[in-house]
Amino acid sequence: MFRYKCTQCGKEYKRDEVKYLCPDCSKSYEPGMPLKGVLTAEFDYDLIKSKFNRENPDLNLFSAVEKKFYPGFFHGNTPFHKSERLCGFTGFENLYLKNDTLNPSGSYKDRASFLVVAEAIRIGEEKIVTASTGNAASSLAAVCASAGKKALIFAPESAPAAKLLQMQVYGAEVFKVKGTYDDAFKLSIEYTNDNGGLNRNTAYHPLTIEGKKTSALEMFVQNNFKPPDAVLIPVGDGVIISGVYKGFYDLKMCGLIEKIPELICVQSENSNAISNFIETGVYSDAANPATVADSISVKTPSNAYMARNAVIASGGFAVTVSDKEIMEAQKTLAATTGMYAEPSSAAVLAGLLKSKTKLDKKKQIVLLITGSGLKDTAATAKYLNG
Ligand SMILES: [Zn+2]
Repeated sequence: MFRYKCTQCGKEYKRDEVKYLCPDCSKSYEPGMPLKGVLTAEFDYDLIKSKFNRENPDLNLFSAVEKKFYPGFFHGNTPFHKSERLCGFTGFENLYLKNDTLNPSGSYKDRASFLVVAEAIRIGEEKIVTASTGNAASSLAAVCASAGKKALIFAPESAPAAKLLQMQVYGAEVFKVKGTYDDAFKLSIEYTNDNGGLNRNTAYHPLTIEGKKTSALEMFVQNNFKPPDAVLIPVGDGVIISGVYKGFYDLKMCGLIEKIPELICVQSENSNAISNFIETGVYSDAANPATVADSISVKTPSNAYMARNAVIASGGFAVTVSDKEIMEAQKTLAATTGMYAEPSSAAVLAGLLKSKTKLDKKKQIVLLITGSGLKDTAATAKYLNG
């Protein structure tokens, strides 16, 4: 069905031969650095091409887990549409939104959680563990609830209250970490090393990237079987942007598109490790990643290598935005389109406004809106009411 391929050494593995990272490359991995040996799934692209039918497009052809293992959790197929009012406001003539706030748990992360839980069903694993700034955990808790699986979460105690509440109401077991997301990431890997369970940490489990590719496949279909020209994506750990790249890569490998869209990496100026890596070629941690955009606040992004490659291979670039610009963009997006995005997602509009000289105003440009503003109303209240 597919083979895993190491993004660093290129070695290939059979599907059940490896679980997380390339065994060779991950030997030199130490907690506190970007992951080494992240795996990607390589499919039989000729087979997919021979089966793909535009009259009745079946995106499950691109799935790394068979449909019979899917949990009953209905996500994705989110709206993709032009916003004339946002075009008028920004001066871009062909501006589209992909609205992933409408997933069941309110964020893009449902795409990855769904596929990892499908994998847990396939291999008969009952317990799924993750570290998260909030969205991945609330999403995993939701999908586990739908499948009758146990979700075990490591989240910073500073995560927004709504996200912590979501985890609880879905029935997850939550360990509140007195520390950052990076601390939670380390703890969760130690936990599964010692106690078992399936670890859903982003990029650590290769199917998180596969799950996150599905918005690219959907946009291709929703856009009348054409890729857009550019997609602006909020970047924390670098897995969503790697996933979107992978979706368009799969389409290109099947001969269904000729060109991968320019992928624009949007980060908070305080949480800028990947942007800095893209621009300088030299990796260093974000010294102090504190930002109002909690979902993209990361000191050491797990998927830094793959994210950098995705942006460069697509001909894209990186842009960073301040907290003030993010909150202004949240208000503008909401008041212009009716879409209330969380700060990390509003960052893409702020990034667009800062990229006016780099992006052609006539091209089809997509803002990927990955999470609902209702998950962190405190941030909005603080901005609006001072
Ligand atoms: Zn390797």
